[in-house]
Amino acid sequence: MATLQELQDKLRKPLERELLMGCQNKVVAGGLEKLLDNLGKPFPKVREVLRHYETLPVEERETKLRQALQLLTAPSKSDPPPKPTMKVSKEVEVVVPKNWQEDTSVEHIALPTQAVKKLHALGLRSLRDILHNYPRKHEDRRALPNLYDIEDGQKVTVEGVIMSKNRRAPKPGMLILEAVVQNAYGHKVKCTWFQQPWIERSLKVGAHVIVTGRAKKFGRQLQVNVEYMEEDSESSLSTGRIVGVYDLKEGISQAFMRKTVHDVVTHTPIHDYLGSKTLQEHGLINLPDALNGIHFPRDEVHLTKATDRLRFDEYLFLELRMLLQGGQNSLLGKRFTAKREDIDVFEGSLPFQFTGAQRRVVHELASDMRNEKQMARLVQGDVGSGKTAVAACALYLATRDQYQGALMAPTEILAKQHYANLTKYLFPLGVRSCLLIGAMGAKEKRENLQRIATGEVDVVVGTQALIQEAVQFNNLGLAVIDEEHRFGVAQRRALLKDRPDVIVMSATPIPRSLALTLYGDLELSIIDELPPGRTPIATKLLHDSSRLQAYSFVMQQIREGRQAYAVTSLIEESETLTELLAATQLADNLKEILPEARIDLLHGKMSAQEKEEIMDRFRRHEFDLLVSTTVIEVGVDVPNSTVMVIENAERFGLAQLHQLRGRVGRGSNKSYCILIAGDTSQKTRKRLKVIEDSTDGFKIAEADLKIRGPGELRGTRQSGIPDLQLGDLTSDADIIEQARNLAKRILEFDPTLEKPQSNRLKQELRARSSHVAVREVI
Ligand code: ADP
Ligand code: MG
Repeated sequence: MATLQELQDKLRKPLERELLMGCQNKVVAGGLEKLLDNLGKPFPKVREVLRHYETLPVEERETKLRQALQLLTAPSKSDPPPKPTMKVSKEVEVVVPKNWQEDTSVEHIALPTQAVKKLHALGLRSLRDILHNYPRKHEDRRALPNLYDIEDGQKVTVEGVIMSKNRRAPKPGMLILEAVVQNAYGHKVKCTWFQQPWIERSLKVGAHVIVTGRAKKFGRQLQVNVEYMEEDSESSLSTGRIVGVYDLKEGISQAFMRKTVHDVVTHTPIHDYLGSKTLQEHGLINLPDALNGIHFPRDEVHLTKATDRLRFDEYLFLELRMLLQGGQNSLLGKRFTAKREDIDVFEGSLPFQFTGAQRRVVHELASDMRNEKQMARLVQGDVGSGKTAVAACALYLATRDQYQGALMAPTEILAKQHYANLTKYLFPLGVRSCLLIGAMGAKEKRENLQRIATGEVDVVVGTQALIQEAVQFNNLGLAVIDEEHRFGVAQRRALLKDRPDVIVMSATPIPRSLALTLYGDLELSIIDELPPGRTPIATKLLHDSSRLQAYSFVMQQIREGRQAYAVTSLIEESETLTELLAATQLADNLKEILPEARIDLLHGKMSAQEKEEIMDRFRRHEFDLLVSTTVIEVGVDVPNSTVMVIENAERFGLAQLHQLRGRVGRGSNKSYCILIAGDTSQKTRKRLKVIEDSTDGFKIAEADLKIRGPGELRGTRQSGIPDLQLGDLTSDADIIEQARNLAKRILEFDPTLEKPQSNRLKQELRARSSHVAVREVI
């Protein structure tokens, strides 16, 4: 935005020209005073000096001009910022009643009915709604740009008078409206509207307008393809300051909106729902100041501070709502002793030591477990960060108090894998585990259910089957939910009828800010450190034409006794994705390219049992190369596989690629991932480069989020991420955390917001709740 110095220069130039041209008051269309109305606001003294310039004799004009120029060249002792002044335009007559309150509805303030209708059309029903309907963006109109400086394609705002207008229909069905607008410097701009016949009515020769659009230059001729036009209602709200631009509907002008908001901001007593101590702690300005600042900022600093405050509030109410809604805070869960010595015993039995991050998370879990409140904690960590070991520790602690534990996985393959891992950790400690999956024989299943019911089993690992088939626990104390993939809320609920403590594990490296918002009712623990000795997976992005090279590298690895994956997109979609190598075709193709390798195939159309068999055979190294659709994404663990080739990598999301890649590099051997992409756009290459350059899941997820937007992240599509007006989930992690902590503190002091001190907060929460949708987690 322009500095005061720049504004000063802008004003000085035409004054110098005027002096040069003999003080004829012809340098600027409309006269110097008109120019001062626009550019002179920050310089009241200059305006004072040049008042009634037009009526002065030439000699006196010269003296005044010199005085004015002196003021402008003097080292800028900035004038105090202009007070926002308001001239009521004739267009809107607002009747100001005595007692405006935030919950006053618009019917009671804005006569005539025309205005009420407009506000209703925008969904604004009360004064509060108007106050919190923030501008979509802000434009710096303290000085409009010098038209000669404008570049082709630049977005510009031009203020001036319509000199002439014209209507053209170059061919049938095409309508172009044109108007020549002359600004205060006398520069003319041709404004055009395509196919907008309704504009014609508002194009009045002589009218003062502000148009915004893309500039097009034809030599020195400037044309603006108008995106929107405002009729300047003579109100200082629209010019000479930083101006808010609102999302509006047809037939509602920016000037109307600004005027209305200004009235409301000026006349409504705005009570802050946060105390001054709290504001000070968080470095926030008070609410009236913030609302004034978001709509009518004095300058950019004011705007920034206003935005900071209101953004903070968005998250605060979001967190409050989620904490209140879940009610987890007050729910009683299980109380465990979770002794430090038991943690030590568990760690002592491991073939390795916990990483610092694992140890921190274990203690976070243990401390929750000791509390009588129900634990609801999300443990998030990149693939291979050791979540399972941490969960095993918590399960061990639960069994120490004679409680049962359960671990739910989204697929049978994963359940089996978890079972294998858990037994490895828990069996030596005398914990009895069992597996429960759909593919089991009826007899075995019945026996297991029986043993679970009588408490002969301490830890159950299973799939949905676990809950769908009325498992009767003897004494369920802790449930671990591996949420690598889609779990319905209902399924979780079903498991929770015993109200055990709950740990959700997620390998999807959702950026912290998004996790906090999506899982607002879960506490968050992050394992942000990989076990030592892992060599990062070397990743290479190759063009289609280098495919053979890629596979000869794969063959090299196979000759060294390693195994490999080749992954392609889903087989079912082959009709719509004809150009894709479907998995079967890929397998056939690879058998030709790599005649020595033992190759087999896994795809989504196979039954669970078929998949199992293939995976078991792969684990036993009965073949070398597993060709697969993305079904392997869900956490298979074959440490001997060291290389993965991903075909049509451009078809995958970054987070998904990262997940896939995590299937290699699980053993001690150096591992590789080769991404093969066909002819792709610059943007796609850039996206894939992120994977090539980084192995940090969180960084990748953040990049993904930036490129695709939060709504597209896996599993959040239908989640109704609250539509934040100001918040930006990709960068607000700190603010979210602060807001969350404050929300917690508020609820600790007043769990249901019953106390009189919380009244305002509660009111505002209610007002906001009707607009916000939030994902239910548990
Ligand atoms: P995640 O569930 O997060 O993908 P796992 O718990 O399955 O990770 O651990 C991945 C692998 O790393 C396993 O083979 C596990 O035995 C090993 N591992 C876990 N924690 C450590 C550690 N602190 N030091 C060394 N190896 C570890
Ligand atoms: Mg795991």
